[in-house]
Amino acid sequence: MSLTEKSELDLCSAKGCHAAAVWELRWNNPKLHTPDRRKIWLACEDHKQSLSDFLGSRGFLKEVEPH
Ligand SMILES: [Zn+2]
Repeated sequence: MSLTEKSELDLCSAKGCHAAAVWELRWNNPKLHTPDRRKIWLACEDHKQSLSDFLGSRGFLKEVEPH
């Protein structure tokens, strides 16, 4: 795979996962971020649930959108 192709392919944010991302988890930590700020984690189908559970349990998760 060339560098150009690699940079165009967004990968899952889960540790050690190199699968292509199909979901965007948009989150906000109210202690660090202003309310309209969104951090984005990318997730593959396998990690969508565990990553959104992690953010959701902390009250950080705002939206989940197809990537
Ligand atoms: Zn993944």
